[in-house]
Amino acid sequence: MKKITAEEFERCYAVASGLTVEQLRHDYKRIVVPCDCGEDGCRGWKSTTQEREDEQREFEERMKAMMKTLGAIMETLEVSK
Ligand SMILES: [Zn+2]
Repeated sequence: MKKITAEEFERCYAVASGLTVEQLRHDYKRIVVPCDCGEDGCRGWKSTTQEREDEQREFEERMKAMMKTLGAIMETLEVSK
């Protein structure tokens, strides 16, 4: 699929939403960030909000910490076997 710039993506997103880019940015607080979901039709960008991005990052950090703990627990289990 053809790669587009963040600006192009934002413009298309605005048109599809029936809004202007200004409205998206200021009224809806939406930002464009790189996307690597790999889904069909993904143009490498997504529209989101800063708040949602922060939540996502927090979640990923929690998951990483959890996996580390899990790894440590499993190692303990291996040793005690
Ligand atoms: Zn995507």
